[in-house]
Amino acid sequence: MEKIIFATGNENKMAEIRMILDGLGMDILSQKEAGIMADIVEDGETFEENALIKAKGIAEIAYGNPEYKDAIVLADDSGLEIDYLNKEPGIYSARYMGEDTSYDIKNQALLDRLSGVEDEKRTARFVCAIAAAFPDGTSEVVRGTMEGAIGYKIAGENGFGYDPIFYLPGCGCTSAELSPEKKNELSHRGEGLRKMRDIIDNKQAQRR
Ligand code: IMP
Repeated sequence: MEKIIFATGNENKMAEIRMILDGLGMDILSQKEAGIMADIVEDGETFEENALIKAKGIAEIAYGNPEYKDAIVLADDSGLEIDYLNKEPGIYSARYMGEDTSYDIKNQALLDRLSGVEDEKRTARFVCAIAAAFPDGTSEVVRGTMEGAIGYKIAGENGFGYDPIFYLPGCGCTSAELSPEKKNELSHRGEGLRKMRDIIDNKQAQRR
């Protein structure tokens, strides 16, 4: 069976990825399952650049193993853009205030920075770039987004990261208050993965 290697060690992400890419009829492995331990330095200036750097870096290692010489390598890079803060924390979302700082502290700090800011100026979005490196040496990158606003308080227990302050006006709650299924349906990562699934599907159809 043809293989996809996803450049992540995060099991929650893998579950979401497997759910969305299921219909492709390909074997979907995490980087760890493919025995690749490398950590690629993401020093790009955009989500797209970082996702491509990761996908190509892991592909270079994967193609050194005959078992994976025909695999497609995927990688993502995501984060939160707050318009009032000139799109901060953006590509630095994971590193904002330090990787080891808890999200309770990071989320409260962002709420404080938006203190007194009116509704219309609180717009924000989650962005996710998904990149693919193909065995023929070509690559593709797509973007998914989820539009919303920064709420006024921390709310919800589901999700992770900045979900408890990310308010979805259409749902009347934060993304941390959505079920995992509903979040997959609406999320930036879900949208990016579905776009990438269509690209892979077309590419496979051309090869047959
Ligand atoms: P990564 O590139 O997917 O590892 O995500 C980078 C960072 O963006 C995460 O550590 C979170 O801080 C933030 N982030 C990305 N996606 C989400 C999401 O769906 N909910 C909450 N925070 C997110």
